[in-house]
Amino acid sequence: MLNHGKLFSLRRNPQSEPIPRTVPNAAGGHSFAISDWARLDRFLVLGAEGGAYYAGEQAMTRENAVAVMRCIAEDGARAVAAIVAVSEAGRAPKQGPAIFALALAASAEAEATRRLALAALPRVCRTGTHLFQFADAVEVMRGWGRGLRRAVGDWYRAKSVEALAYQAVKYRSRQGWTHRDLLRLAHPETEERPRKALFDWICRGTLTEDLPALVHAFAAVQTDGVDGAFAAAQVRSHGLPWEALPTGLMTSRAVNEALIERMPVGALVRQLGRLTASGALAPFSPGTAHVVGVLSDRERLLKARLHPMALLIALQTYASGRGLRGRLSWEPVAQIVEALNAAFYTAFAGVEPTGRRLVLALDVSGSMASGAVAGTALTPREAAAAMALVTAATEEHWQVLGFTAEPGRSWHQGAALTALPIGPSLRLDQAVAATAGLPFGGTDCSLPMRWALERGVRADGFVVYTDSETWAGPVHPVEALRDYRAKTGIPAKLVVVGLVSNGFSIADPEDAGMLDVVGFDTAAPALIADFLRA
Ligand code: CA
Repeated sequence: MLNHGKLFSLRRNPQSEPIPRTVPNAAGGHSFAISDWARLDRFLVLGAEGGAYYAGEQAMTRENAVAVMRCIAEDGARAVAAIVAVSEAGRAPKQGPAIFALALAASAEAEATRRLALAALPRVCRTGTHLFQFADAVEVMRGWGRGLRRAVGDWYRAKSVEALAYQAVKYRSRQGWTHRDLLRLAHPETEERPRKALFDWICRGTLTEDLPALVHAFAAVQTDGVDGAFAAAQVRSHGLPWEALPTGLMTSRAVNEALIERMPVGALVRQLGRLTASGALAPFSPGTAHVVGVLSDRERLLKARLHPMALLIALQTYASGRGLRGRLSWEPVAQIVEALNAAFYTAFAGVEPTGRRLVLALDVSGSMASGAVAGTALTPREAAAAMALVTAATEEHWQVLGFTAEPGRSWHQGAALTALPIGPSLRLDQAVAATAGLPFGGTDCSLPMRWALERGVRADGFVVYTDSETWAGPVHPVEALRDYRAKTGIPAKLVVVGLVSNGFSIADPEDAGMLDVVGFDTAAPALIADFLRA
């Protein structure tokens, strides 16, 4: 007689076979499909720029756009609120996905949704560059109707004249758009003389007495023969940003020293290499003291919405002593390197330790080594290591593991786990680099639970940093977790930190002991801790 139990079990199924609620993933295995709303959050934080191992940039953008549109159609108000929430709290490394999603909502079929999206324009598009990005995205989706023209016009009317002048000299053009283009399209009316003068200057270059002093300072430094000392004085007295200066002045030490004092945190972090090359940042210099002061000012970092990813990339670049493109090189100042490392942890909002015993498992497989998280220079595997370090820096009981190949076997024959000697005592860029050289194996997200069970390791939670493209295991990750719970009596939890904006998760949405969070969401470490503590 046929022994059905030998051929089919409710508890142990290879990942090549489906179990209830799973769908085929891109790797030949099966994972749970995440909801469109979860996908919206992933897209807003991770974007699709740079693509991923299993999907190119265009396919990924399309897939995400379709999911975002389903959210917008289902509940426009909720979709706009989600976009605003991620954007305003600075939860994403880049604003691009939120701006794109807002443009989709501003082009929705439902008029109420379009109105809500346009009302949110100044909250999501806070700078001139954001506004240009929005114009670029929205133009291919809808016409320049009255509602859109009024919303853009209001953007130019609501800001103070000083703030608008700053936007006008700092962000003059991006992606082929200028303020003149938008003012001509939107035609905002104004009775205020200085604002009218500013509009005239933007559209026709007319310099008048009514203009804010910043515009006159901008015009003064554009004239021929201006030297560093004069430009530095203009920067100090009027707050001219670096974008407003002619390229020829950018190597002047005096100008850079003046810029450092007033630079917004984000620009400062991105310009550290250039500022060091100019001599304005040097060991024990006043500029260095200022930079270190800014980077250790928690309030200021949080207020600037500086994403930790930006700090990690700045650290990698700055410590390497050379720019990503171009010939610029510098001698890194040790104090600044250390301050960047510390600031990375500071930039994640304060997380209280849970006291739980945590297995932090990094998927360092091949699929995690290609593509770029949120269109940055980081691969999902590097981002995974950085996220694990944030939790390790807060918690007391943790072990970092990496998904690697079985010793002596090729990657498709076996998948294994290796305890990784990385932790927050290593400098972030070095810890991240340590994951790069690991031999990788087949992807099996059930391994952390099986590893713990085999060794009698008593863990309260498994945090797996992955793209959820699991396929190589003899059992599904959720089955391994349920087996672990049954055999140890520990109601262990599983957190999946998703690092690719695909539609999969290894977490079962119907198991309350499993959570799916978006990797590199600045809110993720706190969400993980709250979930593990509950
Ligand atoms: Ca993989």
